[in-house]
Amino acid sequence: MNTLRQHFPIFQHMDENVHGYQWVYLDSSATTQKPQNVIQAVNQFYLSGNANVHRASHDVARKSTEAYEQARKRVAAFLRASSHEEIVWTKGATEGMNLIASSITSDMLNGGKRILISATEHHANIVPWQRLAERFGMSIDVIPVDEKGVWKLNDGLSLLGENTAIVALGHVSNALGNINPISPFIDKAKEVGALTIIDGCQAVAHFPVDVTALDCDFYLFSGHKVFAPMGVGVLYGKADVLNALQPYQVGGEMILDVEYTHSSYRDAPYKFETGTPNVPAILGLAEAIQFVQTHFDEIQRVESELYEYLLESISAIKGLELWGDNTRSVGVVSFTSSTINNQDLGILLNEQNIALRVGHHCAMPLMKTLGISGTLRISLSCYNTKDDIDRVIAAISRALSHENDTMTMSVESGSSI
Ligand code: PMP
Repeated sequence: MNTLRQHFPIFQHMDENVHGYQWVYLDSSATTQKPQNVIQAVNQFYLSGNANVHRASHDVARKSTEAYEQARKRVAAFLRASSHEEIVWTKGATEGMNLIASSITSDMLNGGKRILISATEHHANIVPWQRLAERFGMSIDVIPVDEKGVWKLNDGLSLLGENTAIVALGHVSNALGNINPISPFIDKAKEVGALTIIDGCQAVAHFPVDVTALDCDFYLFSGHKVFAPMGVGVLYGKADVLNALQPYQVGGEMILDVEYTHSSYRDAPYKFETGTPNVPAILGLAEAIQFVQTHFDEIQRVESELYEYLLESISAIKGLELWGDNTRSVGVVSFTSSTINNQDLGILLNEQNIALRVGHHCAMPLMKTLGISGTLRISLSCYNTKDDIDRVIAAISRALSHENDTMTMSVESGSSI
């Protein structure tokens, strides 16, 4: 029995049938649904707490500033950071990655000329490094993958050496769901003095993350992947490394002093937080984290039970290829069919009111490496049910058997398909 689903009002609001089918949401890697306490926090802010932060002495502004800074402390505790001053608010992981890549100075590169990423990265953890590489005349190395898209650990580690200045890796692949072995890379990066940046977008909703134990320099995620509203993200950075970065954008709030011709800036995290922040989303994020912290054991129990069921059911369907390492996954099955193309299968599933992601998942280089145009991705979260899985399995089976019938008919009638 899944008691977590009841916390997500969308499932009551989406209960009207489309073409006779109830909604099945299997696209949580793209964005998660929001629990009631998150929606309530956002509503509450606009109903009875709307005031800008850090700007006024009136009571409502003071309260909103307190809640806003409290949220920072909650995120710091969630990631096991040593101080709330190591938590920077961003719009999301993409902005966080751009912030780091744009703000690194040559002094921080330790003389190294190479950036190490992996073959499974999201574009948000590739393109900013390409720009940094252009800026400093650096080049990019890529941890290779096997034919399923799983990192080749030793080959990857052998790319990390004295000339490596930056190691930027996804904790979990969004395209395949693999939990990646990041620790040996962080450890080796420290030996050679390279900066370590971990994209935690697909990790934080599924298992506890301890940035202090990981000992990475930066860890980023987007709130909307962990039950929080869209438009807010978190950049964790070790205090000394954060303070070594240049400000990303400049303007109000991040300022110590301004003259007409020059200015001085505050220390991190404020030196990166210019302009009015997305306060309601940040308060929503604090609630989302409260939800995760309260239910983490149950979230993990439900997800692993559902994943086992999904894997067993989908493996029994003939003619599907499953990508990635399904023994180390956050509840994702990324697959292709040998008889029906991804888009067509996606359309058939959508007609049965089943939401999943079809395409390259912003990991085009990975898809090219695997020799495919993309995959269909089922991504689970704690609000899914066995019924959801039965529905998608039945729909895929139906689509494939229909396709086989069509193929047989076409072959018998001699027509081309
Ligand atoms: N990294 C990973 C692994 C992701 O899954 C995503 C979102 N799909 C991003 C980065 C970018 O996140 P956002 O679009 O929220 O900035």
